[in-house]
Amino acid sequence: MVVMTSHDPTPGALPAALTATIDLDAIAHNVGVLRAASGTDLIAVVKANGYGHGAAPVARATLEAGAAELGVAHITEALALRDAGIDAHITAWLHTNHAPFDAAISADIDIALSSRRQLARVVDAAQRLGRSATVTAKVDTGLNRSGVAADEWADFADDLAKAKADGAVRVRAIMCHLVRGDEPEHPLNSQQAERLDAAAADLAQLGSPAEVMHIANSPAALTRPDLARDLVRPGLALYGCSPIPERGDFGLVPAMTLRAEVALVKTLAAGQGVSYNHHWTSERDTMIAVIPAGYADGVPRLLSNQMRVQINGRSFPQVGRICMDQFVIDLGPDGGGVAEGDIAELFGTGADGAPIAREWADQIGTIDYEIISGIGARAHRRYVGRAARETRTAQR
Ligand SMILES: *Cc1c(COP(=O)(O)O)cnc(C)c1O
Repeated sequence: MVVMTSHDPTPGALPAALTATIDLDAIAHNVGVLRAASGTDLIAVVKANGYGHGAAPVARATLEAGAAELGVAHITEALALRDAGIDAHITAWLHTNHAPFDAAISADIDIALSSRRQLARVVDAAQRLGRSATVTAKVDTGLNRSGVAADEWADFADDLAKAKADGAVRVRAIMCHLVRGDEPEHPLNSQQAERLDAAAADLAQLGSPAEVMHIANSPAALTRPDLARDLVRPGLALYGCSPIPERGDFGLVPAMTLRAEVALVKTLAAGQGVSYNHHWTSERDTMIAVIPAGYADGVPRLLSNQMRVQINGRSFPQVGRICMDQFVIDLGPDGGGVAEGDIAELFGTGADGAPIAREWADQIGTIDYEIISGIGARAHRRYVGRAARETRTAQR
């Protein structure tokens, strides 16, 4: 683990006010934790820009650490990974009418299908291109979100068998997504697996068997090895967040540390209010500092007057409203030894007493998925760890 005590921008880059340092060694470690717990291979889920960590660097780190494949929501996300030079198997599972199926087939993206309409469009595209599309049957086994609906399944399976017989598709996988993966003992988990097994048997009987099956998200990959089948499909746990906080951290290490450089330090007289609408008023003469991170960067405005930051090993409370670009902290009458240019840690591994992303999530009644994937584009992503060093060396 790399511990930074000072501002350390990527060589050659302009210094950034706000930096999300991504520890690729932590991600590699988390791949190992997931492989050991599930006893099987991984589809590393890197949708939504790798849950805010940067899709391509995270994808490379997971593959180097032994992940077998990648998963994303949109075909455009898969194509961006291809453009970044990543040739691993990639599955994309969320499509609209105008999804670029042609481009997906040309780039050899595995298209997970949720309806007969999607299958028909993929078959059209494959025939136009004169090649077969690699597809996954995404079965709705109870989530009632994406996936082929139960009442459409029999017709979908017939269409799929015909498409296979025509050479339009290769049926690579069958998958479903759990409703209650984070409640490992809930009977619905096993029921969903049974429904998927039945659907897989249908495909086999029609002469178009799926080559592999996958079900488990992060919480199931860590707690239900019996559902692992051929591959597991974790996202959150790769990034080091616990998918079932009540059960501990599973040995996962958070990969993202969010830091900002203290922009301004000044005095504040007793009785003065801070930030819009003066939602906090100082009871004493004190010193305050401006931190250049706001809700446009993914610091939730709902955290106003609730969060804390860590500077030089000390914790300081955030005061007043969080704004679009900045918020204010109270340094106390003696200024807490903080100077302009010091580095404030907003969240990270928790090892240093600073918050982890879940602390923010708990405070505002959400989940850490939303916090980490919400860190905005203004935060400079800086990669550390062995994989980052190897990439930089290779680019020299
Ligand atoms: C996002 C997603 C995952 C990963 O879920 P986690 O809870 O982050 O592990 C897996 N499968 C599908 C279909 C998804 O949409």
